[in-house]
Amino acid sequence: MIPKATANLVEMFSSVQGEGVHVGTSTLFVRFSECDLRCRWCDTPHSWALAKTARLESERGTGDFREVANPVPLSQLIAAAEALELPSHRFVSFTGGEPLLQPEPLVSLARAFRERGPRIHLETHGLHADALAEVLPVIDVVSMDWKLVSDVRRADDRKSGPVEDFHTAHAEFLRIALGAPEVMVKVVVTPATTDEEIDAMMHCILGVSPEVPVIVQPVTPCGGVGAAPGPQRLLELLSRLERSLPNVRLIPQTHRLYGAL
Ligand code: SF4
Repeated sequence: MIPKATANLVEMFSSVQGEGVHVGTSTLFVRFSECDLRCRWCDTPHSWALAKTARLESERGTGDFREVANPVPLSQLIAAAEALELPSHRFVSFTGGEPLLQPEPLVSLARAFRERGPRIHLETHGLHADALAEVLPVIDVVSMDWKLVSDVRRADDRKSGPVEDFHTAHAEFLRIALGAPEVMVKVVVTPATTDEEIDAMMHCILGVSPEVPVIVQPVTPCGGVGAAPGPQRLLELLSRLERSLPNVRLIPQTHRLYGAL
């Protein structure tokens, strides 16, 4: 149990949003520790378990970090964010791991950060609808993933064999997320992505919010995924979604291009 007024983090640092509709905006990232999914392409496997220590960037943009013990008092995190020139950022992004596994500290931090200027961007795997409802009043942008079982399992699933897909749970999550000022759906596609699961996702989105921005993100090769889909396959996937959804964009992880955190 994490004591109140503390958060269990992996790291906090200043950078630039590399994904989605707000790509290119100055963003302070707060990465929560622990995740209950296992994506084959996960680039932050160190965030899966509760971490003993967190690293906090000391000076904006330097990449110099200091280690602190977890759980970290929220007052310490707010002071560290101010040292990183918090009000100069367009957004604070709560990411992970899965930030909705710690809804109480998330709400407290979001309130404190928002008062100082930045908008609050929640990056989530999009499955904990109850926790989302709890935090929604302090969130400006919900960026939810739509996970596909060709590449993603729950952490407690068996290693092989068929698993239940996430479509129904994501659709329910999206319904609640629409209470936020802004929502987007992100789907990471790999060579394993099938047309059937893309169609199932599309039908769910059509049933809940056809206008929601959908970001198709080609995987950045990592972990168990060695390559991204080729250009022809990406165009096929884009066209397939654009036939029914009005607001689809293909956007890779841009921060990887210039080596940002
Ligand atoms: S949900 Fe995020 S942190 Fe969890 S395994 Fe997937 S990519 Fe990694």
